[in-house]
Amino acid sequence: MAPGKNRSFDFDDVIHNICGTSPFALPIRFMEARLIVAVFVFFGVISTPRAADSSAVLNKNAPGHQDVAVPLAWGDGTKILVVGGGTSHDFQKWFNEADVATLRAAGKCSVNYTESSATATKALAEADVLVSSTNQKGFDTPAFRAALMKFADSGKGIVLLHPAVWYNWPWPEYNEQLVGGGARGHESVGKYSVDVVAQHQVTRGLPANFQVTDELYHMTVDPKGAPIEILAKASTARGVNYPSIWLVSHPRARIVAIALGHDGRVHELPEYKKLLANAVAWAAGGSAAKAR
Ligand SMILES: [Zn+2]
Repeated sequence: MAPGKNRSFDFDDVIHNICGTSPFALPIRFMEARLIVAVFVFFGVISTPRAADSSAVLNKNAPGHQDVAVPLAWGDGTKILVVGGGTSHDFQKWFNEADVATLRAAGKCSVNYTESSATATKALAEADVLVSSTNQKGFDTPAFRAALMKFADSGKGIVLLHPAVWYNWPWPEYNEQLVGGGARGHESVGKYSVDVVAQHQVTRGLPANFQVTDELYHMTVDPKGAPIEILAKASTARGVNYPSIWLVSHPRARIVAIALGHDGRVHELPEYKKLLANAVAWAAGGSAAKAR
């Protein structure tokens, strides 16, 4: 689970702060401390506990929230749109800060991160590669669905990370056409080996196998979905194999799916950084790039 950002309200600290500056400090010491705090809060003397929490993330699923598209600025190089946000993962820390740093270190590119469906919908028209991890409820608006399918049909690149290969939405075409199936379950976080089974630009430079501490997603191939080519797989302690890295066959788009990546124990691995950079580089070289 993603670590919570809620700030606990420390009664003892507040009492110390109030008593340390109040001219009524002495009388207060003879009174019930928590009652005084309640009175102060009631009359608005304490409006916020010390500093405001500027890291709070607006809950886009809150009733009445208006998701408004924000224009993104693009520089030179491959335009990479990184889309995250949702539940059970620290999207800001790993799928934004860590992954974006990995992509910037890998080559000339312009990277933007968003958790807004409206912004992503608009930005897809400008991006070369989408790197998505989002599992946000309601992200799949009709406009986003149309924009993503148009993006794929125009031969752009798509890299789907961990939460993005789940069955997140009542949108079967997403899983059928862009994932080739999906996961509805996973092993608890634990150590396992990722075994590279195919040589490809996406797996170039990776060892034949490498150890991760991660959730092992139960990726199930959809026989009605787009065919997939498995590049790496992993097996559970019970000996059940699942695809770990795979390509999804699409008429025009280049799609790489990576089931790895629950948290920093994967995102900070040199093998994962290599894999992510490879995947984006390969995805960027599709028919859209050749047409330019
Ligand atoms: Zn996870």
